[in-house]
Formats: sequence, structure tokens, C-alpha cells
Amino acid sequence: MHMNPPDLRPDLARARISDDSLLGRREGQPTIGMVSLGCPKALVDSERILTRLRAEGYAISPDYKGADAVIVNTCGFLDSAKAESLDAIGEALRENGKVLVTGCLGAEPEYITGAHPKVLAVTGPHQYEAVLDAVHAAVPPQPDPFIDLLPASGVSLTPRHYSYLKISEGCNHKCKFCIIPDMRGRLVSRPAHAIVREAEKLVQAGVRELLVISQDTSAYGLDLRHATDRGHRAHITDLARDLGSLGAWVRLHYVYPYPHVRDLIPLMAEGLVLPYLDIPLQHAHPDVLRRMARPAAAARTLDEIAAWRAICPDMTLRSTFIVGYPGETEAEFQTLLDWLDEAQLDRVGAFQYENVKGARANDLPDHVPADVKQDRFDRFMEKAQAISEAKLATKVGTRLEVIVDSVDGDGATCRTKADAPEIDGNLFIDEGFETLKPGDIVTVTVDEAGEYDLWGRL
Ligand code: SF4
Repeated sequence: MHMNPPDLRPDLARARISDDSLLGRREGQPTIGMVSLGCPKALVDSERILTRLRAEGYAISPDYKGADAVIVNTCGFLDSAKAESLDAIGEALRENGKVLVTGCLGAEPEYITGAHPKVLAVTGPHQYEAVLDAVHAAVPPQPDPFIDLLPASGVSLTPRHYSYLKISEGCNHKCKFCIIPDMRGRLVSRPAHAIVREAEKLVQAGVRELLVISQDTSAYGLDLRHATDRGHRAHITDLARDLGSLGAWVRLHYVYPYPHVRDLIPLMAEGLVLPYLDIPLQHAHPDVLRRMARPAAAARTLDEIAAWRAICPDMTLRSTFIVGYPGETEAEFQTLLDWLDEAQLDRVGAFQYENVKGARANDLPDHVPADVKQDRFDRFMEKAQAISEAKLATKVGTRLEVIVDSVDGDGATCRTKADAPEIDGNLFIDEGFETLKPGDIVTVTVDEAGEYDLWGRL
């Protein structure tokens, strides 16, 4: 999945912006392009790399032709993502010629160089120094201390009113379909004071919404023994409270349903963090979860959800599921559908199971045929859509706070607190929107609801 906004994506930019002053570029300034593939976590890595490069005096090009070299930050999570990464590398080679590859797929350098022997360098995920060394070798820096001012919040690939905030890296679980722990290692948490400082800088620079991400957000600080350092305790509940005190919306992603997640819900009821939980559950049948090597028990998760909703009735629950996991029977799949009926999750995404090179699930017996996977996926999404539609219909007539993402001649595209950027729905305002600008938070009356989106007026 591509994540860069079009003006920072060489592969999407329609034409070179010829006026270099628009990009703050000076004559002869070394210039780098970036294609960022994969999940929001990879996007944060891209932002960090660009932040460092800007700090060192590089300009960033929105297209291939204006760049002296192009970095492709790859994703290697699924085989389809690997193929997409190879395609992106091929395109960058054709269009620019000087290509540096980093990110998840960089953990398999021979896979990349086998397909594209002309890439200049391959580095793995989070090897920021190695990426910078490779850039320095390909396009030497020309620092100018009078001109190279780094924006206080760094370079953000996301619109300025929201920003991803990465709190840890790696994962201590061993889900059989996933190779992230092999690629990214065990959980390593950032110190809480460093995260809060980064968040403060972002908010000072105008960010109105912080999207907290990691592989396993609720495990945050486990490796640090939840110690307190410089006044901030490395525990998700404390961190959420600290971040919530900064005055921006705080949205928690990838929260594994550990028992202590219950302690986060009062913070949502208090309004300190958004009443939104993104919990990747993957399945609901205990035998499938066992074959996946996921410790969760779906029945207990239903109890947890009921307890969360008792504390914060307005909370939005998002989750993702895998359909057609090896050995999944029709009865097991039916359990998942019934579970969804009962859980009434607000937002649901699904993947059809795919083998991933190196994942232990590949060796499981009884892989599900493609047509059965497709059929289950369609049935699953039909149900999820019906639930979403019914839930959104109850919002008609209510007043909701929304954040404005963009405004054009036709209207304003906004999101409610129940909508994460890029993955959930929108609220559209078609009239009286002219004075709105991105980042505004306003209250609207909901007039109309669709399957995933809302329409409202100020
Ligand atoms: S919890 Fe997530 S990142 Fe960790 S192994 Fe499982 S699927 Fe992979």
C-alpha cells in the first residue's frame, strides 16, 4: 500500500514542479526522492530518514526527474507487498537510475539484487545510519548552515495536522502467519520522555491529532520494566495520559487486548484520548487462534468489549481479521461471522490468507482453496458492511466533532473521532465549508449516512 501524499511521491507526481523556490531548493542543492511503501510504521521510518536528510542540507524532490537519487522504502509483509516493492524499485530505476532500497524487504538483499542488480545499496528496516551512509555515497551532501534549517517537528509525510507517533519497535509474539518478529526483532520501546517530547514538538508545530503506532501498542514499556525516567513512566496507560494532556486528539492503533487495556478506557471516557481502539483480533474461533499461535480467547474478548463499552459507551472499535487461514473449516468461519454479529465492531478490515516466505503457517496442512477464500471474504465483508451501515445510521441527527482533512471547491472532507485517517470513513460537508481549513476541529450536525461515510452541516 502506498502511503505518501501525492506531492511527496515521485511515482504519483504528475509533473515536475519547475520552480525550485516552491520546494525551498537552492541551486546545486543535492536532492533526494522517496517512495514509501507499506504500513504507517514504515511511513514513520521514511519521515525520520527525510528529517535527517533535510537536516543535512538535502532537498526533497516530488518527482523522479528532480531527484539525484531515489530511496525506495519497501514492505515485505506479504508476498503481494514484496511484488509491489520490486515493481516500485523497477520503476524508480527506469525513471531515475540511482536507487537505494531500505525497509522490511531490505532484510533480504539478495531477493532485491537478484531482481534488480543495478540498485546502489540495500539496507534493512530501521538502519537509519546505513541508509544515510548510502545516500552520502550516492549523492554527497553540501551542507550550508545558513540555509539548512530543519522544521522544528521534522519533515512529515502526512498532512501537517496529524502525525504518526511511533512508540516502540518489534514484537514478542510469534504469530504463525507473521514474520515481523524475525525481521524487526523483539520489542524495543522508546523512552516515554522522548516520545512525549516529540509529541510536544509536533503539537507546537500545529499537529492536532497524534496517531500512536507500534507493532504491539499495549506491550509498550515491557522491555523497560515500565520504569519511570525523567518523570515519565514507560507504560501505555501513563503514556496515553501524558500524551492526552497535550491538547491534541490521541488515537491508539494496534492495541492487543491484554487485561490492562481496560485501564485505558476511563481515559477515553474522560476525553483524554479518543474513544477509539484499533485491536487486530485476526479471528474468533479458538482453534483457529491456536493454529495462529495467538494467545487471545475470543469469548473473553467479548467480555472485555462489553466491559469497555460499559465504561465508555461511545467508543469505536476497529479490528482486522484473516479469512481462509490454513485448516479453517466452514464451521470455524461461521463462528467468526456469528462472533462479529455479537461483537458489533464499528470498523472491520479483512485479508484473505496468503503465504509469506519464511512464515510458519506455510507448512500447516489443509490450505483453503482460493475460491473458498474469496467467497468467505465476500460474506465477511457483507456482514461487516451491514453492521457499519446500521451503526452509522444511528448517528444521523447527532452533533459530532470533526477534524477537517482537506477543502476544495466541492466541499470539506473531515473525519469524526471514530475515523482514523487512510483506513476509516469520512464526513463530508457540502455547504458553508468555505471558511474551513485543514486541521480545524468543528462541530457538525449529521444529515445523512452511507455504508462507511457520513454527510453533515455546520
Ligand atoms: S502480534 Fe502482530 S507483529 Fe507480533 S507476531 Fe503477531 S501479527 Fe506479527
